[in-house]
Amino acid sequence: LFAGAADFATAADKLESLPPMQGHEIAFAGRSNVGKSSLINSLTGRTTLARTSHTPGRTQQLNFFDLGGKLTLVDMPGYGYAAVSKAKVAAWTELIHAYLQGRANLARVYVLIDARHGIKPNDGEVLDELDAAAVSYQIVLTKGDALKKSEIQARLDATSAALARRPAAYPEIILTSSRTGEGIAELRASVARLLAE
Ligand code: GDP
Repeated sequence: LFAGAADFATAADKLESLPPMQGHEIAFAGRSNVGKSSLINSLTGRTTLARTSHTPGRTQQLNFFDLGGKLTLVDMPGYGYAAVSKAKVAAWTELIHAYLQGRANLARVYVLIDARHGIKPNDGEVLDELDAAAVSYQIVLTKGDALKKSEIQARLDATSAALARRPAAYPEIILTSSRTGEGIAELRASVARLLAE
């Protein structure tokens, strides 16, 4: 699934430049610095797909990676970075809104949440958007290696409780670490199940 040889990448910063729909699409969203680039690289086994150590909040575009025709992976711009202007936040919101409303082949959005911090208010706003657009989403906790064993279950329980009344939330939460590789196989299996549907 993730072993395609040549990838084709497209970036869109406005609705008109979204690539045509093709196969299934999965998208990754999360606050700046949540570990999204690292996770996408771990998931795909490519180090060049999503560049890490980028300037937070700089890329206000959707990045589309065609993984061999059957699956497109969409890297959504990180949110919640304080230094971004209100105008940029508004442009981001408008683009994301338009994308979520019109993307019939979008099978699921994986919403990345830092396992140390849990769901923050601006994550909640994104989940509100997804619920309103009736786009299926699943929570992926990142940086699981940074938590003590005793803290992990508490974080999972609190996150589950926060999702209970959210209609578009997939109940299963995936705990991952790009450092240790924990949960990466589970995330791959989740994607594979979507494609089999
Ligand atoms: P992005 O801004 O969401 O794309 O996040 P990055 O992937 O660039 O990672 C942001 C920071 O978190 C970097 O300093 C990474 O080294 C760190 N990081 C990423 N993944 C992990 C992880 O699994 N565990 C830990 N402890 N740190 C991580």
